[in-house]
Amino acid sequence: MLRLIKLVRERESTLSAMTMCNFTKVIAFLKFILVPHGFLLRVWCVRETLLGQRRCVVRIRAGWQHALWVMSGVVVLILLSAQTGGAQNGLGAQARVLETGSAIRASQNALSLELVISQPVPYRLRVLAGPPRLVMDFNTLDWAGVDLGAQVPRSHVRALRQGQLPDGWSRLVLDMGAPFGLASSEQRIDASTGQAVISVQLVRMDLDAFERAAQDEGRFAVLSGGAFLHPEAAPAPAAPVARRKPVVMLDPGHGGLDPGAERGGIREADLVLTFARQLREVLVRRGLFDVAMTRDEDVFVSLDGRIRAARAAQADVFLSLHADALPEGLASGAVIYLLGDTASDDSAAYLAERHDRADMLAGVDLTGNTDEIARVLMSVAWQDTAPRARDLAESLVEGVGAAGLRLHRRPIQSGAFTVLRAVDMPSALVELGFMSSPRDLANLRDPDWTLRMAEALADSLELWHERDMALQGLRRR
Ligand SMILES: [Zn+2]
Repeated sequence: MLRLIKLVRERESTLSAMTMCNFTKVIAFLKFILVPHGFLLRVWCVRETLLGQRRCVVRIRAGWQHALWVMSGVVVLILLSAQTGGAQNGLGAQARVLETGSAIRASQNALSLELVISQPVPYRLRVLAGPPRLVMDFNTLDWAGVDLGAQVPRSHVRALRQGQLPDGWSRLVLDMGAPFGLASSEQRIDASTGQAVISVQLVRMDLDAFERAAQDEGRFAVLSGGAFLHPEAAPAPAAPVARRKPVVMLDPGHGGLDPGAERGGIREADLVLTFARQLREVLVRRGLFDVAMTRDEDVFVSLDGRIRAARAAQADVFLSLHADALPEGLASGAVIYLLGDTASDDSAAYLAERHDRADMLAGVDLTGNTDEIARVLMSVAWQDTAPRARDLAESLVEGVGAAGLRLHRRPIQSGAFTVLRAVDMPSALVELGFMSSPRDLANLRDPDWTLRMAEALADSLELWHERDMALQGLRRR
């Protein structure tokens, strides 16, 4: 065991310099060596700043058969959100701006920008009018504290802003003192060092010519985000959004070759399909939501296929419906499961694995599924979705509780449920009850009880939607 702890310590000290991609691999490696020895490993990552800096906490705990916490470590990873993407594109480590040779130079009628970077990057550039600006986006670039604007006269460059966009690109904005239009731009790569130089030449134009060459501000903002643009520039018109009702995707679990749990000739797949239809009816009658279903008959749908169906329906919220059986037969009452990297208890691990097994039986390739879930949990988009999913779970518990229906003693739990990994859509898996509990099974077969449950879930969804709208408004501000 001491050898293991030493190994973990060594690994930990090297983590700070790693990209998220490597970090994920290290975590997978640690799990691989520690879990068979009875250790539990949890990772929490919180996105903290605009620059994408994250704090990740890695906690390694002895399993129940050991008595002590063995170690807890805090690792701060300075990384930019698109690093993972860059690494996946085969670009390896993130490109950095190098101070030596990087400069903005000004002469009477020209402005030039030279950026020396540690490796070539994809980039795009635009000029915008009112006031004249040069906007450059890079995928992706670490500014490394290099200050480009120090020596440039204000007649040419009034202000310079640089930072990270939410989608992982890095942006540089120059507020120009006069209309300098694009004359040329290129990226040269030095074969011997692997470094690249992005060079941009701008020449003075009259204002009319500049405005004709400039991209429309609103269109630019819609296409690439308004971040770091001039605060006094004309506001971008909101993208036209057709008014529509929010869409709830109901996902009755199992189906076809996968019956789910079975008790006395009753199949979970049938119970949850009947319930989903009942819930759909209640929701449609109330009129707040549009409703779609991942299946409306007894057919097999892969877990991935369920997420794809939700996307195709442009769903705003995803609810997977189940009534599984647990081997120990002790669990009863409703439970809401959220996506998490480790199971909150043994039954969560059992259920997540069991749901994946049907996909494997049907020949769906689940290789790398664990990595995929780790990637989702660490992605930037998930940082927005996770609290919304948490609110969804809390609203569901509130609604079911308010209706006087039985809840499990730990009503919100988490696990690596493949079907919950849509990164942009709050998702939850509801165990309406457990078929392994005779009392729950009787309820699940009682149409009066299921109607009460359907009304309770509809209440919950309405409650959640109202809160979510209010919170989204706050977040936007
Ligand atoms: Zn199930």
